Amino acid sequence: MLTNEYVKRVYAQVEKRDGDQPEFLQAVQEVFESLQPVVEKHPEYEKAGVLERIVEPERVIKFRVAWTDDEGKVQVNRGYRVQFNSAIGPYKGGLRFHPTVNEGVIKFLGFEQILKNSLTTLPMGGGKGGSDFDPKGKSDAEVMRFCQAFMTELCRHIGQFTDVPAGDINVGAREIGYLFGQYKRIRDEYSGVLTGKGLEFGGSLARTEATGYGVCYYTAEALRVLKGDSFEGKTVVISGSGNVAIYATEKAEQLGAKVVTVSDSNGYVYDPEGIKVDVVKQIKEVERGRIKEYAERVPGAEYHEGCSGVWTVPCDIALPCATQNEIDEKSAEALVAGGCKVVCEGANMPSTPEAIAVYQKNGLLYGPAKAANAGGVAVSGLEMSQNSYRLNWTFDEVDAKLKSIMESIVAESLKAAKEYGHEGDLMLGANAAGFVKVANAMVAQGVL
Ligand code: NDP
Repeated sequence: MLTNEYVKRVYAQVEKRDGDQPEFLQAVQEVFESLQPVVEKHPEYEKAGVLERIVEPERVIKFRVAWTDDEGKVQVNRGYRVQFNSAIGPYKGGLRFHPTVNEGVIKFLGFEQILKNSLTTLPMGGGKGGSDFDPKGKSDAEVMRFCQAFMTELCRHIGQFTDVPAGDINVGAREIGYLFGQYKRIRDEYSGVLTGKGLEFGGSLARTEATGYGVCYYTAEALRVLKGDSFEGKTVVISGSGNVAIYATEKAEQLGAKVVTVSDSNGYVYDPEGIKVDVVKQIKEVERGRIKEYAERVPGAEYHEGCSGVWTVPCDIALPCATQNEIDEKSAEALVAGGCKVVCEGANMPSTPEAIAVYQKNGLLYGPAKAANAGGVAVSGLEMSQNSYRLNWTFDEVDAKLKSIMESIVAESLKAAKEYGHEGDLMLGANAAGFVKVANAMVAQGVL
């Protein structure tokens, strides 16, 4: 609930201006609730108009992407890049290609990214972009032509010192390769303008694994500090079967847990013996197939149509790793009824506000997305460092830095939660810790 007058006033203004962007409003409201004790303690933020400024992107770029399909027909999509906040570094955040992409979705993701990037301790501002292009069912050549058309416009607005995009839903190694190639061709410049690049052309080891591994490092540390517990012997439910879900599954299993589900937008598989991550990699990373095929290949595994059933599977820990608002109140109640004690978010904003209220009411350990999934952008930041140094660190070096960043995010979140009177609250702590650094930089840099 918003009770602070300053916070309420700014939120009302956001509602008035952006009332047609429900995901953005949801993200702002969640953050603003947490920031009330912060602005009460720091009246200088109101004087400097920090909240009014932080909800307004520095720049929104929206453009036509015209490309030709394999039949020779012209297709037109919309492209977006929201350059949200550059107070602590160049804009940084992924590109999402999905039919549900619109300005409000990109703004919610970009807004979250500001605080997430701040939490990583690395110098990165917040940005996000993408298109309503749907790569499902498209040939490689079509994806390449789309990526080239997209970058032909985007390349005017980005650069290694201004804005460094990465991947997100449906933007993986293949797409980043095509986007990088087109940037290099047009700008005649070989620089670290994108992260998530192939290892042959400036990518970082462990970037592919980073978000999923990071979610598990975060969860393990929060479990250790707050409950004196670990992944060992736990049953874990994971949604999604993309980049984040696959590597969260792999790491949770390495840490001694049994992951029993993965899903895609059609349905989920339940494997009581534990998900075989190599089978998921083969289906999703190599064949670009559907998760249903897992049950056809692994004896004893079941496939169920529909996404929300995954939350009815009994578990100790749930790691949502698919998309926004995938857990509503009913699904959260199903999780609690199934014995779940921990929810840490691999996807961005996977829990509705009502679902979060259910976690809080039932005393679950809740790790919010901007903290729990910050490992991806953290290793993107490390990729930028390696590109600047013109050298590559080993997998173990990057992995060790990732682990230490995730542990520091837990520590900083808990420190801030305590400072603002909400001891143990990882959500309030993440929002407060991420915000204060950005707010101080904004105040120091004057009215921009
Ligand atoms: P991928 O494209 O690799 O995988 C996405 C997965 O989620 C797929 O299994 C997909 O199923 C499923 N999915 C997508 N949209 C929906 C939907 N509307 N309903 C149900 N399932 C859906 O993306 P990532 O793994 O990279 O991203 C997953 C989440 O993690 C996103 O919220 C993203 O923003 C977040 N994230 C990603 C980071 C990264 O480094 N990649 C970093 C931080 C956060 P299907 O194949 O059927 O579409």
